[in-house]
Amino acid sequence: MSADASNDPRPHDAEPREPGQAAREPRDFVRQAIDGDRANGRNDGSVHTRFPPEPNGYLHIGHAKSICLNFTLAQEYGGRCNLRFDDTNPTKEEQEYVDAIQDDVRWLGFDWDGLYFASDFFQQLYDHAVQLVKDGLAYVDSLTTEEIREYRGNLYKPGRNSPHRDRSVEDNLRLLEQMKNGELDEGAAVLRAKIDMAHPNMNMRDPLMYRIRKAHHHRTGDAWCIYPMYDWAHGQCDSYEGITHSICTLEFEHHRPLYDWFIEKLGIHAPRQIEFARLQLTYTVLSKRKLLELVKSGRVSGWDDPRMPTIRALRRRGYTAASLRAFCDHIGVAKFDAVHDVGLLEHFLREDLNKTSARRMAVLDPIELVITDWTEGQVDEVDVQNNPEDPSAGTRKVPFSGRVFVERDDFREDAPKKWFRLAPGQEVRLRAAYYVTVHTVEKDADGNVIRLLASHDPASRGGSTEDGRKVRGTIHWVSAEHAVDAEVRLYDRLFSVENPNRVDDGADWMDHIDPDSLRVVAGCKLEPSLAATEPLERVQFERVGYFVVDPVDSAPGAPVFNRTVALKDSWAKLEKKLQGAG
Ligand code: ATP
Ligand code: MG
Repeated sequence: MSADASNDPRPHDAEPREPGQAAREPRDFVRQAIDGDRANGRNDGSVHTRFPPEPNGYLHIGHAKSICLNFTLAQEYGGRCNLRFDDTNPTKEEQEYVDAIQDDVRWLGFDWDGLYFASDFFQQLYDHAVQLVKDGLAYVDSLTTEEIREYRGNLYKPGRNSPHRDRSVEDNLRLLEQMKNGELDEGAAVLRAKIDMAHPNMNMRDPLMYRIRKAHHHRTGDAWCIYPMYDWAHGQCDSYEGITHSICTLEFEHHRPLYDWFIEKLGIHAPRQIEFARLQLTYTVLSKRKLLELVKSGRVSGWDDPRMPTIRALRRRGYTAASLRAFCDHIGVAKFDAVHDVGLLEHFLREDLNKTSARRMAVLDPIELVITDWTEGQVDEVDVQNNPEDPSAGTRKVPFSGRVFVERDDFREDAPKKWFRLAPGQEVRLRAAYYVTVHTVEKDADGNVIRLLASHDPASRGGSTEDGRKVRGTIHWVSAEHAVDAEVRLYDRLFSVENPNRVDDGADWMDHIDPDSLRVVAGCKLEPSLAATEPLERVQFERVGYFVVDPVDSAPGAPVFNRTVALKDSWAKLEKKLQGAG
């Protein structure tokens, strides 16, 4: 395990918990099943899991859930966890995805015991297919795809046997060999398991094992002209790797009888398949197909667009691995589909960033505040705490001068009730610097405020006075002559509806993309310490939110900041309450 991975062996819950609520018994159904197997001495009590992505796209937060589950189970039980690429579909898979997936798993804080590719087992799978043919349990079918579908029947109608079902073993072996050698055209034949065409479970109606695909494979090149189907490859690979618990998502529940059938007929090590519900999140989509559509249509800038739910994008957005792990741990595993509120994910993110992010001052929508009683040209260096949550983070010097930028939104000419920030005649603390009071408001010809003139109290240096007089409002600021200009990208949720997968207003799901999910703000003013930042450095802009240095578009001396997540907006809440009250 890499250093920052959680080794926390707490029991996990079947039921979601309140944020911050301690873990409690009972153990979830996955752990109960494993406990039971160990008590029965199955596999000598050992636990070996795997995470089996198909390298046909980037991982998303749904995969993170599966990764956390599989790797933490191995940790908890002192077992092992493999990373296996399910690379059985040569036309959709690429090395680029293989590399990115490994990188993302490591970033999440996990390291695999064994690294495998389903393609490592192509020969072994073929040999086992030959064994099933010899045992009279598989046959080559020459029906067309349409005919196969038609013969299969449906839920209410049993299927019919293919006219090729009773081919001799010799014929089947010869045809399978021809399929393998590329002597037959794509679609001319398939290998099928011989089970039961009237089985109530459609997956058991002579499922396909191999199809002909004369495609180049990113690892095996042109060595193979036939490729195994998921159902034929997956369980056997689990078995070959010695997997004890094959954990997958609920849609494979009806595949389990087939999974077990192959293993039993081959007489090889039997892993146990356990299914859990896929993670679904509000305001996003979690399917590689849809994510690919978003990328291809240009609605997002790429797989790593910070609004995407991919691990790439979450990284670029400023998410921490610890927050993703805490979220996955918290929601636990369930047997029923539930959509989780993305607000819960953001809760865990804020909780982590609050502890770890350095505070900095940045003004996103600046207006100038001129201190009219400041000594011309004087620069004061004030000490500002780096993280009030963590005194060991120390302080830094921030230059203060007679001209500072403050947020336009921190000034109201007609102050509402309970407004403690800037307003004419109201004393306010400039964070860690001085108390100031606005006395004059300068406007342009259209009545827009362009400058505030204020006086200051020299005795309030550092942010308090000896007389202990009460100043309720504290705002952030940046010295105008020292400010660094930067572009800031305010990201929000990609979709404007909770469940873009399920809107039946006739519109396309992509029409629900929120056009305000990205707002680019140029000319933001940052305190000078932010001139030198590292890509992916995370900071809290005080009173504004958590931000990260964009690793793609930042240049030396010209950082671009992405908003990771806003702070909880306490004024907006209070304002709403006050409006509600009257
Ligand atoms: P998608 O539908 O997004 O393409 P997939 O299931 O086809 O997902 P795979 O690469 O085959 O993607 O998945 C690898 C593993 O991750 C599988 O075990 C799968 O069950 C699991 N997984 C995929 N999506 C989710 C999800 N939303 N929640 C939990 N586990 C998931
Ligand atoms: Mg899949």
